[in-house]
Amino acid sequence: MYNEKNCYSIHGLPVLQDNIVWILVRANEALVVDPSVAKPVEEWLHRKNLNLIGILQTHHHEDHIGGTEGLLNSWPNAEIVASKTDLKRIPFQTKSVVDMDELLIMGCHVKVLEVAGHTSTHLAYFIQSQKDVSSNPLLFCGDTLFSAGCGRIFEGTIEQLYKSIQLLNELPKETKVYCAHEYTESNLRWALTIKPNDKSINSRLIEVEKRRSKGLLSLPSSLEEERKINLFIRAKNIEEFANLRLKKDSWRG
Ligand SMILES: [Zn+2]
Repeated sequence: MYNEKNCYSIHGLPVLQDNIVWILVRANEALVVDPSVAKPVEEWLHRKNLNLIGILQTHHHEDHIGGTEGLLNSWPNAEIVASKTDLKRIPFQTKSVVDMDELLIMGCHVKVLEVAGHTSTHLAYFIQSQKDVSSNPLLFCGDTLFSAGCGRIFEGTIEQLYKSIQLLNELPKETKVYCAHEYTESNLRWALTIKPNDKSINSRLIEVEKRRSKGLLSLPSSLEEERKINLFIRAKNIEEFANLRLKKDSWRG
């Protein structure tokens, strides 16, 4: 996706079963979020003659960090940004960060948000709107928030995940949401089992089916959109939230 108003562009590279590696590009530089695997990312960067200057890691799962070592072989000076709490599980860190840290990388002002729940430590990266980056704020939220869904709980608690989703929901509504998996269509189908007559969810599903049938990604979404279609964001309290998570976990769609 190229935004003509500025010199940045963001590309979503589908890899593995349903992972998306997001790549921010400025001039001849690139910043990669959660490289699941090295090869397709490396090839894409080479094809565009780009220099990888950094990698942002959201959490330690292999389908998010698996490509980092390989990319470092080609670009040994790339900054590796990840959680200080996960120094052991996320290797090669050059910039170890914690909640609320702010960093400047490739001209982007990035704010670190701790959004645990899917894993005991999980970071989201929020890039404020900047004149020369994007007119919208950007959120790279890994496996915490998905379009029409949220991450499964592997290590964290339902309280943590609830708090994390609430925190992300406090960001500006214009925020573009870049999730790490293409789960939108399946999430919307599940949401319709709970709210079959919901107009917003039904119309979003039609839109997403169209995009997917053309081979396009359903993402990014926006917080404004998620407030309409995401039952986890719409949940009134933690009981409702926990109940939805349980239902989703046992759904075989
Ligand atoms: Zn994960």
